Amino acid sequence: MCRASETPFERIESAIRELPGWLAGQSGSRLGAAIVRGRQVVDRMEAVNGEATRRFEKTGGYRADGALGMTPWLRTHGKLSAGAAAEHVETARQLEKLPRTEEALARGEIGYQHAVAMARTAEHVGAAQVRKAETMLLKAAGNMDPGQFAGVTRDFEHRVDVEGALNEANRAHQRRYLQIGEAINGLVRIEGQVTPDAGAIIRTAIEPYARPSKNDDRTAGQRLADALVEACRRGGTGMVSANGGQANGAGPRPQLVITAVADTLAAIEGAPAGQLEWGGTVPAETVRRLACDSAITRITGLGELEWEISHSSRTIPPATRRALVARDHHCVFPGCDRPAPWCDGHHLIFWADGGPTKLENLGLVCVPHHRKVHEEGWTLKRKDDRWIATPPPLKVLARARSA
Ligand SMILES: [Zn+2]
Ligand SMILES: [Zn+2]
Repeated sequence: MCRASETPFERIESAIRELPGWLAGQSGSRLGAAIVRGRQVVDRMEAVNGEATRRFEKTGGYRADGALGMTPWLRTHGKLSAGAAAEHVETARQLEKLPRTEEALARGEIGYQHAVAMARTAEHVGAAQVRKAETMLLKAAGNMDPGQFAGVTRDFEHRVDVEGALNEANRAHQRRYLQIGEAINGLVRIEGQVTPDAGAIIRTAIEPYARPSKNDDRTAGQRLADALVEACRRGGTGMVSANGGQANGAGPRPQLVITAVADTLAAIEGAPAGQLEWGGTVPAETVRRLACDSAITRITGLGELEWEISHSSRTIPPATRRALVARDHHCVFPGCDRPAPWCDGHHLIFWADGGPTKLENLGLVCVPHHRKVHEEGWTLKRKDDRWIATPPPLKVLARARSA
């Protein structure tokens, strides 16, 4: 069938052309096996390419294309990102000193990412150290996905080279950063990376707030985002909500300062949005939620309204807060059981609309549900000791009628 003049690549390429047709004839239940074989072929090609990369680098073949090194050459000609190109070149170099790993990759016994982890370990502690434990490490690689296996190789590095592992940890520490962007399209982008211990501290601090409540329709990502804010809201001043804060500013420093006019607080149509101290605006409904009961939020007015806004009795006095917790125990939104310390005291009739800061006009609601009753237009009512939440359309209609 195959002519003698055909190179292996031509035969591979013609086989790849046949594959879609062959796959189309396979039943769905056999596709899993086909995918696994496909992955193995890719991994085995990596072994072959690694060897070629090594020889090409040694002979300086990349110079003919004007490249200054193997990595930039591979980046351009191999269509790889700088990071991926560097990883391929370094793995190729290290595998020369780890022939058994290279063989295991060439036979499809381990995946390419397993080989990368081995190579990285050799780079950190020396190939000689890795060779001594190669059998044990390859056995682990055969039984684990590459993510788990990277944990094994890191552990191995710690054991054989404490100093090297420390240096590596210190280099990683240097790469830590956190960026909090400007508000764009109504969202602030937060990104960063921290060392594993810092990551664990952050995770431990926010995870309790990320647990889904009953009928929670938030995604895992949304819950983590809410949890981060919640943990920061409480940061170091866990008693803020419990003592209700101080309207005169003598209490904990407010974490959020918003400038809003009285019309905004009264939800008068056409009133301007609230202005954040850090820049950016928040809709009137958000201002109203934040002003509802929040010792960490300070709403300041503009000009002559300043006194009126800052001296209104929106903050819930400690005794009232205690009575509220004793009555409600947890978020009162039907189906929610988030504990009192995570809850705001929501004014059923907003204070700016004349609602008093008295027990009968208050209800404990967790932050996601507080948001529902303000920004998302739900109504929350207390009737015969039962709480009833009504979805938005009715409220929107009611508001349109009363306007
Ligand atoms: Zn409220
Ligand atoms: Zn709730």
